[in-house]
Amino acid sequence: MIKSLVFLLEFLKGLWITAKHFWINIFFNFLKLIGFNIRDRGSVTIQYPEEKKEIARRHRSLHRILTREDGSPRCVACMLCMTVCPSECIYIEAEEDPNPEIQKRPSKFIIDLSRCCFCGFCVEACPEDALRMDTNIVELGEYNREKLIYDLNRLVRISK
Ligand code: SF4
Ligand code: SF4
Repeated sequence: MIKSLVFLLEFLKGLWITAKHFWINIFFNFLKLIGFNIRDRGSVTIQYPEEKKEIARRHRSLHRILTREDGSPRCVACMLCMTVCPSECIYIEAEEDPNPEIQKRPSKFIIDLSRCCFCGFCVEACPEDALRMDTNIVELGEYNREKLIYDLNRLVRISK
């Protein structure tokens, strides 16, 4: 008898929780539907990949290397991003730049995204504002790890 009562109580408790969430979600979604600009719009299912979730402006997404007006990468191969990277996933080789005012440029610039933790330290460290993580590209899944290795050309191409 006591067992049955406990079972019934738990059953009603579960029913109450489900109903509560259902009506709260219906209420917020209805408010949104009739034009109220509320932050909480209840739980919704996003129909990914047809529908994409809006990404916050400060979200750190795929890296890119910015270019100067003449199209050359802004990077001066100072190695600061490589030094600060906690995942050690940046590799740079420097060479002399023909422009004496610039002095150095990268002959090789690689980011291995399979190791990157998207901390953004490299962006913060860059004195030339050459590296950014503002592409809003977050779908980075690949079947092959090699494809997650981004070289200079690939990183520059994202900027264009
Ligand atoms: S985001 Fe962080 S882990 Fe990724 S490359 Fe930059 S410094 Fe390294
Ligand atoms: S910190 Fe900036 S300028 Fe220095 S190597 Fe990295 S991307 Fe290039």
